[in-house]
Amino acid sequence: DTRLSARLAAARPSATGAASARARELAAQGRSIISLSEGELDFDTPAHIRQAAALAMEQGQTRYTDVGGTPRLKAAVMHKFVRDNGLRYEAKEIIAATGAKQILFNAMLATVDAGDEVIVVAPYWVSYSEMVRIAGGEPVVLVPDAANDFKLTPEMLAAAITPRTRWLMLNAPGNPSGALYTEDEFRALAEVVARHPRLLVVADDIYEAIVFEGRFCSFAQAAPAMQARTLTINGVSKAYAMTGWRLGYAGGPAWLIKALELLQSQSTSNPSSVSQAAAVAALEGPQAFLDDWRQRLRARRDLALDILARAAPLLTMRRPPAAFYLYADCSATLGMRTPAGELIASDIDFARYLLEGAGVAVVPGTAFGLAPYVRLAYALSDERLREACERIVAACAALL
Ligand code: PLP
Repeated sequence: DTRLSARLAAARPSATGAASARARELAAQGRSIISLSEGELDFDTPAHIRQAAALAMEQGQTRYTDVGGTPRLKAAVMHKFVRDNGLRYEAKEIIAATGAKQILFNAMLATVDAGDEVIVVAPYWVSYSEMVRIAGGEPVVLVPDAANDFKLTPEMLAAAITPRTRWLMLNAPGNPSGALYTEDEFRALAEVVARHPRLLVVADDIYEAIVFEGRFCSFAQAAPAMQARTLTINGVSKAYAMTGWRLGYAGGPAWLIKALELLQSQSTSNPSSVSQAAAVAALEGPQAFLDDWRQRLRARRDLALDILARAAPLLTMRRPPAAFYLYADCSATLGMRTPAGELIASDIDFARYLLEGAGVAVVPGTAFGLAPYVRLAYALSDERLREACERIVAACAALL
């Protein structure tokens, strides 16, 4: 009997994963493939963080720890929240986990029942909608105006809330939109949230460190009265080039943190002890190198935009103030044909054409709940980024 649970049957596989897999397959066949599909920095984890991990191993920090993280890491996280976000949490309001992803997933599992609704803002990170579905809930997808940088307005939010709405998922800087909310914008959303006492808020701050223009503000920082209903999620993956270490953390109300700990205790137990030691070094160590990383990323963003401007009007995009993605509108390519005569009927077709025809891997917007777009992740070397963008321009020019 190969039947899967109804829970799993509701979920779709990660489209970003599928795009990367096909790109690897073509590369293995000897094709020159440049991937703009990876949601991670190409920088190495800084040496002082790697050394802290090595030292932890040498010192025997190789056993189970407290399920929700060592007291040492929790102290570092509490300090980080005060230092960077003006948010005070007690130790019982902090959890560390195997990536921010585990916290998001467990938060849905812990609180969402069949029929509960979760508001997700498109374009959204691919896993949001599927996590909600696996938990048995209904993602309610809102699509803000591209002209408003894909940012949710209080009016849209108010109109979407029903008696069954459990969560509002906020992600700023946004993947893939790069959307960054101002303090006032968050306050206006918080006024709507305040009117619905059952509603909880995820503030996914994982791209906090990657802001080029404007100022980062966390949701509960903008609206302190909402802190008791907000799960503020962050991690070391994107800030410190540590995606493989699998270490995320969150601050939130004690009842919810306790539920997340229960789920972890019966599934994965503590996040890696070595990664926890590395995260302490990341959070407490020097932060100045981040300025250099930001400058390099901003230069890459501008390089990509300069080259891709030549693909207009087939491909158009905004200059996102944060994160390391471009979300490019490819609606003008629909109805055109590739040099091989294939019809481009969707962003999935366009992404396939870029991969098979030009050797550039991108992710179709369909995966992020807003089509027809493609997401280009530009965290790779200048040279490869330039080559990838030139290939995209040429591929667009070759469309008939
Ligand atoms: N949240 C968003 C918006 C992301 O884009 C990602 C990773 O791509 C995550 C969370 C997951 O981060 P982690 O590596 O900490 O699980």
